[in-house]
Amino acid sequence: MSTVAPLEDNSEPQENQSFCHPTVGDIIEAMESFAPPQLAESWDSNGLICGERSATVRKIMLAVDPVNDVAGEAVEWGADMLLTHHPLFLRGTNSVSCDDPKGKVIHTLIRSGVALYNAHTNLDSAHHGVAQALADVVGLESDEPLEANDEYENLGIGRVGKLREPGTLREVGWRIAQVLPDSVPGLLISGDPDAEVRTMAVSGGAGDSLLGAARAKGVDAFLTADLRHHPAGEHAEGGKPFLICGTHWATEWVGLPPVADFLTTWAQDNGYSLTVRVSHLVTDPWTLRIPTGPLSEAVTYPYRDEERERERLHDTM
Ligand SMILES: [Zn+2]
Repeated sequence: MSTVAPLEDNSEPQENQSFCHPTVGDIIEAMESFAPPQLAESWDSNGLICGERSATVRKIMLAVDPVNDVAGEAVEWGADMLLTHHPLFLRGTNSVSCDDPKGKVIHTLIRSGVALYNAHTNLDSAHHGVAQALADVVGLESDEPLEANDEYENLGIGRVGKLREPGTLREVGWRIAQVLPDSVPGLLISGDPDAEVRTMAVSGGAGDSLLGAARAKGVDAFLTADLRHHPAGEHAEGGKPFLICGTHWATEWVGLPPVADFLTTWAQDNGYSLTVRVSHLVTDPWTLRIPTGPLSEAVTYPYRDEERERERLHDTM
């Protein structure tokens, strides 16, 4: 797994000062106000995965995926609680033995006294959740969901709105590339790079199932992740919205800093001492990108303009 530069840790409380620390239960209560469990999809799994509600939390780490590298980072940093976006178990399991990578995560965390809690589709849909965070970082003026929650009309999956700074698909793509954290695959674009983009839909993580919803909103482009050949290709045949495909991790990671800010403010408001860290470990499964080739007469890129791309890349560095 590759990493990007870690965030500066907040300074530790001094030993001789007496601080009151929140419990796992206090943090769950706070998180349930930030990302209400009622917002979760029916198939989803959210909540406390391991740990005791009465345990004290001095340090909490936030990450997208509850994988072994992330558990290791939490333990090494001395976290008492790990909050992830994705659940560890979405389907039933019969074993948490160390034979299984997920079982290993549980063992690592319990052995070191680290509680694990997750907020998934409820965090996607929340007021200041993943979808809103993604809209905010790409400069989308929006408080309208792409797919509204059944019970909370103005909340839901994804966001739709107007770009604060419209541009060509190419320009908008490059701008988005600069605000998403980097991981190996980068950003893929589908559509005429010189076409104008004024309105957009965004949805972090796998967006295949939202292609129809994005088209129905009549937007110029749709930023999401994990798009596959057939759904993306068939969609592109039908015209707009143009597709901007990031990675699952990058499009969801942007949802973590607002949670960190919320927890920090919540702790201050309640007189708690709490150190919050956002993991910068890239947990997309890809570790290396190798351009394929060689370029030959047999291959035609409809819009590829290597020189221009290189120039622009050079300009932005
Ligand atoms: Zn996801």
